[in-house]
Amino acid sequence: MSAPIAILGGTFDPVHYGHLRFADDVRRALGLAEVRLVPAGDPPHRGGPQASAAHRLAMLRWAVTQFPGLAVDAREIERAGKSYTVLTLEELRREHPDSPLLLLVGADAFHDLPTWHRWRDLFDLAHVVVVPRPGTALAQDMAPELAAEWNARRRSDRNLLFSTPAGVIFEQPIEPRPISATAIRASLTNDKAGRAAVIGLLPPAVLAYIDQHDLYSNPPDAT
Ligand code: ATP
Repeated sequence: MSAPIAILGGTFDPVHYGHLRFADDVRRALGLAEVRLVPAGDPPHRGGPQASAAHRLAMLRWAVTQFPGLAVDAREIERAGKSYTVLTLEELRREHPDSPLLLLVGADAFHDLPTWHRWRDLFDLAHVVVVPRPGTALAQDMAPELAAEWNARRRSDRNLLFSTPAGVIFEQPIEPRPISATAIRASLTNDKAGRAAVIGLLPPAVLAYIDQHDLYSNPPDAT
């Protein structure tokens, strides 16, 4: 098999160190050359993102300048229609028939998997690498259909991520970072004190971009 292709999808509204260090920690732990960040254009799961796709993409491009092992893959923004992960993995599988595909998810996103479009197909296309996230106990409160996949597919031998194309659930411990885009957006609507509170939670270049374009100063229902 060729080297794995690893992706971390999200809304990145805005991108923060919780995402970036997650991706980079997994990259280093697994010895990967690169992890691709894949921003959703039209995410199926939520009300629309507050910032436009163009702004979220621009913030990501600034963010990765600080992380040489991370790249941005804009295909979900460039593609028409809902940003279903299964379609992205099908495209990647066609482009890289000999590479394992790794889908990186935080514990909260993992718990939501059964709500994803054609979620069981994800395991035919990729390995799922799940990392802990503060606030979500990974092995608890899983939907029964997800617990069944967890029990059947969970492996601790990471070599399987390199020697087989798809189908394993692998738990990768990383340092917990209690950072969320929702909390950052809430702080940024809170004037000076809120802006001071987000310093250190996201790259300075991303914060400068947010300031320059006045992205999150209004609550979502006022924009
Ligand atoms: P929100 O606060 O609106 O839920 P978010 O910060 O979770 O946003 P997303 O773009 O939804 O950002 O997250 C994309 C992926 O990154 C998901 O798999 C999510 O679990 C993971 N993730 C985000 N923040 C962290 C974090 N602090 N630690 C670990 N994983 C994270």
